[in-house]
Amino acid sequence: MVLKLRLCSSTAPSSFKALQVDGHFSFFQNEFAARDFGNQFHFLPSAVLHPKSVSDIATTIRHVWQIGPGSELTVAARGHGHSLQGQAQAPQGIVINMESLKGQEMQVHMGLYPYVDVSAGKLWIDILQECLKFGLAPKSWTDYLHLTVGGTLSNAGISGQAFRHGPQISNVNQLEVVTGKGEVVICSEEQNADLFHGVLGGLGQFGIITRAQISLEPAPKMVKWIRVLYSDFDTFAKDQEHLIYVENTFDYIEGLVIMNKTGLIHNWRSSFNPQDPVKASRFVSDGRTLFCLELAKNFNPENAEKTDQETETLLSQLDYIPSTLFVSQVSYVEFLDRVHSAEQKLRSRGLWDLPHPWLNLLVPKSKMHNFAQVVFGNILRDTSNGPVLVYPMNKSRWDNRTSVVLPEEDIFYMVAFLPHAIPSPTENDGLQYLLSLNNRILDFCKMANLGVKQYLPFYTTQQEWREHFGSQWEDFARRKSAYDPLAILAPGQRIFRKAISTL
Ligand SMILES: Cc1cc2nc3c(=O)[nH]c(=O)nc-3n(C[C@H](O)[C@H](O)[C@H](O)COP(=O)(O)OP(=O)(O)OC[C@H]3O[C@@H](n4cnc5c(N)ncnc54)[C@H](O)[C@@H]3O)c2cc1C
Repeated sequence: MVLKLRLCSSTAPSSFKALQVDGHFSFFQNEFAARDFGNQFHFLPSAVLHPKSVSDIATTIRHVWQIGPGSELTVAARGHGHSLQGQAQAPQGIVINMESLKGQEMQVHMGLYPYVDVSAGKLWIDILQECLKFGLAPKSWTDYLHLTVGGTLSNAGISGQAFRHGPQISNVNQLEVVTGKGEVVICSEEQNADLFHGVLGGLGQFGIITRAQISLEPAPKMVKWIRVLYSDFDTFAKDQEHLIYVENTFDYIEGLVIMNKTGLIHNWRSSFNPQDPVKASRFVSDGRTLFCLELAKNFNPENAEKTDQETETLLSQLDYIPSTLFVSQVSYVEFLDRVHSAEQKLRSRGLWDLPHPWLNLLVPKSKMHNFAQVVFGNILRDTSNGPVLVYPMNKSRWDNRTSVVLPEEDIFYMVAFLPHAIPSPTENDGLQYLLSLNNRILDFCKMANLGVKQYLPFYTTQQEWREHFGSQWEDFARRKSAYDPLAILAPGQRIFRKAISTL
C-alpha cells in the first residue's frame, strides 16, 4: 500500500497534463523557478503553471487537494522571485508563475476614496505607471518597485512612507484569494475578514492572492530628495523620531549606516547638490561611522516655494553636521524607482545575481541604543558590500489583525542589512563570512533579550516559528487548518510540512 502511494506521489505531476487550463504547464526548463534573489537555495519543481486565469490556479490547487495527503505535492506562488531563501520555491512540487496571470486589465477607480484593482502578479512599477495616467498613485511603497503585489502583501511592504501610511498591507481594500482547497474567495474587512487579515503578511500560507484593490492618493509630480549626515547614532535617531511626529513633516523618512567609505560626498555630488559646496568639499568621511538621514518632500511645481519653506523649517529643527546637507530634485517616478537605477549599475558590473545573505530586523525603540552600540559599534565593520538601512515606524499605522509579527513597543525600527557576497572573497565579503555576521547579530539580539522580530523571516524549525509568532502562533496555526488544511501552499517558508498519509 505504501509503495502504491509513493508511486501515486511521483506520478502525480503527469496528471496535470490532463487538466483543462487556459494557460499551460511546463515540465522542462523550469530552472528559473528554482532561483531567487537570495541565490542560496535552488529546488526544482516538477512543473510550473503559467496561468492565464484565476480558474487555472483554482483548478490546479483543487487537483492537488483532491489527490490528498497520499502525495507530497505542494504548490508555491512565484511573484517576481525576489525572495531570499527559497520562499517562492516548491521542491518537486508545482510553482505558479504569477506574472503570467493577466486576467482583467488594471482598473483605476476615481472618486473620494480612489483605488486600483490589479492582478496580484503585477509589478508595482507597472501599477505606478498606470495610476499616474489618472494623476493618482498608491500611498505606501517598497524601496524597489520590481516586485509583485502578491509577493509584497504576503510580507508587509515597507519603505520610508510607512511611518505615515503604514505598510502596503494597511492600504488594501479587498483581495481575491484561492485557498489551499482550491476555493476562490473574495475577502475584505467586511467580508471573510478572517481570511483577509490572515493573508496580509501571511507568508503565502492561507491562499494565493489573485487580485487586490489598492488604495490611492493624488500623485505629486516632483520630489525634493535630501541627505544629511550625523556622526552620532543617538542624535540621528532622535531626529528621525522627531520627524515621524512633527506637523507638515517629510513624505518619506529613512536612514543609512555608512562605514569605511572613502569619497562619500564626492560620489553623492553626481546626483545631489551640496547646500554649501565649499564646506562640503572639506568634509572627510574616510574611515568614520556615519549615519545618513534620507528624506523626501513631495510637491507640485506650483507649490515649489511653499515646499522650500516647509523643508527649511523642518531642517532647522535637526542636529545634523551642517556641511553635509545635500539636496536633489527629481520626478516622483525617478524617486520611487531609484533602486532600479542602482540595479542597472550593479548588473553592468555583474553584482546583481550574486548571493544576497540579507537580514531584516524590527527592533523596539527602547532597545535601539544598545543595538546600535553593539552591532554598529562592534559587530559590523564595513558597509561596502551593500547598504544598511535604519528607520523608525509607528505601530498605530499597522493593523494588529493581520498575520505580520511586530515588536511589542509602539515605535520600532527597521534595520536592514543588505549585502551581496563576492564569488572570490577576501576576508570580509564572502557568503560564509556574511552569514556568520548575521548569526552574530541574531545571537546578540537573543542573548540581550531585545525583543527583535525578523522581517521577511527565515527559520528552519517549527519551534523557531512558534517563538517568532509568540502569542500569535495559535491564530496562525488555526488559520492554516481552516484555509490550507493539507499544508499544500508556500512550502518554501518551512513553517508547516505537508502531512503524508502512509495508509
Ligand atoms: C532588491 C530588493 C528590494 C526590496 N526592498 C524591499 C522594501 O523596501 N520593503 C519591503 O517590504 N520588502 C522589500 N524587499 C523584499 C520583498 O518585498 C519580498 O521579498 C517580496 O516577497 C518579493 O516579492 P516577489 O514578487 O518577488 O515575491 P516572491 O519572492 O516571488 O514570493 C515571496 C513569497 O510570497 C509568496 N507569494 C508570491 N506571490 C503570491 C501571491 N500572489 N499570493 C500569495 N503568496 C504569494 C511566495 O510563495 C513566497 O512565499 C526587497 C527585495 C529585493 C530583492
